[in-house]
Amino acid sequence: MTKRNLLIYNTLSRQKELFRPINEGRVGMYVCGPTVYGDPHLGHARPAITFDLLFRYLQHLGYKVRYVRNITDVGHLEHDADEGDDKIQKKAKLEQLEPMEVAQYYTNRYHAAMERLNVLPPSIEPHATGHIIEQEELVKEILDNGFAYESNGSIYFNVEAYNEKHRYGRLSGRNLEDVINHSRDLAGTEEKHNQVDFALWKKAQPEHIMHWPSPWSEGFPGWHCECTAMGRKYLGKRFDIHGGGMDLVFPHHECEIAQAIASQGEPMVNYWMHNNMITINGQKMGKSLGNFITLFQFFEGDHEKLEQAYSPMTIRFFILQAHYRSTVDFSNEALQASHKGLERLMEGIATLERIQPVADGALTEAYAAEVEQKCYDAMDDDLNSPIVISHLFDACRTINQLADRSTSITPAGLDKLREVMRVFAFDILGLRAEAEADSGREESFGKAVDLLLELRAKAKAAKDWATSDQIRDELASFGFEVKDTKDGATWKLNR
Ligand code: ZN
Repeated sequence: MTKRNLLIYNTLSRQKELFRPINEGRVGMYVCGPTVYGDPHLGHARPAITFDLLFRYLQHLGYKVRYVRNITDVGHLEHDADEGDDKIQKKAKLEQLEPMEVAQYYTNRYHAAMERLNVLPPSIEPHATGHIIEQEELVKEILDNGFAYESNGSIYFNVEAYNEKHRYGRLSGRNLEDVINHSRDLAGTEEKHNQVDFALWKKAQPEHIMHWPSPWSEGFPGWHCECTAMGRKYLGKRFDIHGGGMDLVFPHHECEIAQAIASQGEPMVNYWMHNNMITINGQKMGKSLGNFITLFQFFEGDHEKLEQAYSPMTIRFFILQAHYRSTVDFSNEALQASHKGLERLMEGIATLERIQPVADGALTEAYAAEVEQKCYDAMDDDLNSPIVISHLFDACRTINQLADRSTSITPAGLDKLREVMRVFAFDILGLRAEAEADSGREESFGKAVDLLLELRAKAKAAKDWATSDQIRDELASFGFEVKDTKDGATWKLNR
């Protein structure tokens, strides 16, 4: 395997650290996955792509990586991890579905979106509902160690007792007083001894659909338990990397650290990594702001804030053009610029395939090796993908000079340059060429459908209902939904 000095920023130590896995050649990595109660949106794309970049790079370096990314399908509550209604349960009630139907539907949607973004599937994708026993085991250990208490059938983590022995707030840099001052007073908190305490197990109210038996009550685990319990089950009591979005640092990851130490006496994770957030036109994404755009809406251009559709690779490239710890602001202009940039890079790689080498070329293997070295150096500096991209763009300028013969390259130099471009663009950044003809082909499809609808209108005018229905039904079987309006028929393609 390639020995490299990879630096990664550890949120816990607040500095870049040399990455050294616990077991040589192997990496254990856990990333908080989606809560599956709604369509995947931009906020899901960033952590998925950030940790996909890390997953790909570690594998490229020759590590065997066990990448665990969970599915949160219970216990994630609307306002607070302790009170209120479970989001999935809420959706299930609203749509009169079994909660697991809701979870499965959005899990499938998430997988479909990830596949289009070329995000590799994790090695293990555990579901919170499939690990209730492991979570109860964790709660028992914390109770036995005296860091939790029972109150009316629910179990709460005793933050103050924990803080006396171990510091609470080490990841987020908060101290207990800050936390107390920022805690909101919520209904039902009388069960807790202290408002900063968080639920490890909640007794189910009669209206709660998702509940399991436990020694304390018929209920469900608190949200923070699942990642600690599943991380330990699949990666062991001590593992290398735990990642997620910055919004998870507090309370989720802070509580995970407390749970780990309270149960096993020592931390579970060596490197905590967090990606920054995404804003849209400078604003936080939110349903109330009308800028909540799902990934499928981006892919189809189906939102009033979008001037056009943006392909999955445009979105991926756009996210990779920022360092994962910087904020990213989505706007139509920025996405259009990314689309052009991606096209330039893909054209460069395609052009390179057509270049003819010359034996005494001006550029040799040394040139390609230099491009490679610069790209590795950028990746080793805390996954600096924007710098990698800028080096690939520089190489594209050289490729254009090769194409117009203002310079030349040796056979060995050409082979090496092709390899370097492919490895960094496809294997590590995870880009893939989207069918160049896609937009042109879709235009042709559209024209063909319009033509069929014209023929259908003629059939209808001639009262040939059989033909008219046949055209509509056959189009429907290919996914084209035809709607008759007073101004004629319209259609859309359901994917
Ligand atoms: Zn988590």
